[in-house]
Amino acid sequence: MSIHVKLGKSDLYVNPIGLGTNAVGGHNLYPNLDEEVGKEVVRTALTHGMNFLDTAFIYGPKRSEELIGEVIQEMGNRQEAVIATKAAHKFVDNKVVFDNSPTFLKQSVEDSLLRLKTDYIDLFYIHYPDEHTPKYEAVGALKELKDEGKIRAIGVSNFSLEQLKEANKDGYVDVFQGEYNLLNRSAEKEIFPYTIENQISFIPYFPLASGLLAGKYTKDMVFNDLRAKKPHFQGEAFIRNLEKVEQLRPIAEAKNAEVAHVVLAWYLAQAGIDAIIPGAKKPEQVLSNLKTLDVQLTEDEIVRIGEIFQ
Ligand code: NAP
Repeated sequence: MSIHVKLGKSDLYVNPIGLGTNAVGGHNLYPNLDEEVGKEVVRTALTHGMNFLDTAFIYGPKRSEELIGEVIQEMGNRQEAVIATKAAHKFVDNKVVFDNSPTFLKQSVEDSLLRLKTDYIDLFYIHYPDEHTPKYEAVGALKELKDEGKIRAIGVSNFSLEQLKEANKDGYVDVFQGEYNLLNRSAEKEIFPYTIENQISFIPYFPLASGLLAGKYTKDMVFNDLRAKKPHFQGEAFIRNLEKVEQLRPIAEAKNAEVAHVVLAWYLAQAGIDAIIPGAKKPEQVLSNLKTLDVQLTEDEIVRIGEIFQ
């Protein structure tokens, strides 16, 4: 029996546990990343049936896509992988601006194809909205690329509901990617009703709240990367969040599972979420996250977990 699920109304079929790769060559996000370990993370994922890879131009920048391209070429299994990438970030005078113009998006797809060493991208997202481009025009450019066979599905990320509606005016959006986890559930009210009604798959990012929800951090931990500035990691809030995470431990232990698996299984139990893309810094984390597929939560547990993180 295939464990693969279909993403929204696209024709992409993925293992519901995907791989977030912002720590694969994402030197601008995490200091001291070892690229060989990053490549091994990708290899491990593909070897164990985790076929859905989530990358972006800005992870590195460029290096995440390049390393994935190297691994895919080396393994010779392009057709088994479902590669999602994103663009919108543009460097102007060393500053980042967002660009959703058709010209920029079309060039971005060409550049990603080269870095990924492939002739098609399975899912291409507009990573962030810009201020100027009508969103249906931006998506219209991606539809042209889809018709040409350069991309197979269209996604948008970090759009407001209004921007998403404008982007999907012609019904072309297949996937929405937005921040969603047990500590930030605003998408439930803001985005889910629209994505569910329009058969748009919602892919949550930061599903483990950058590791906080994995159940292994302690109060005295100090972070020197992008987590240092995140509200969930600050002072009293950090301690309160850890206390909530601890309440998941008995549920996990009763299932012979880890807290991270219970958290990830909870997302897959939500209507409108077909797949998740937890990030991994080590191959062991890839193998661990795949164990989520063995965790069945009861209705009572789903409700209880929701209440802990109300
Ligand atoms: P995340 O999935 O919430 O957390 C990933 C981190 O959790 C890992 O780097 C690792 O950190 C820890 N971890 C993972 N598996 C674990 C396990 N089994 N046990 C214990 N710890 C584990 O955060 P994320 O990677 O930033 O986000 C997921 C993906 O979403 C990204 O990789 C990226 O592809 C995508 N994303 C998209 C956007 C967007 O704007 N569209 C924004 C952010 C992210 P430690 O080893 O350091 O603890």
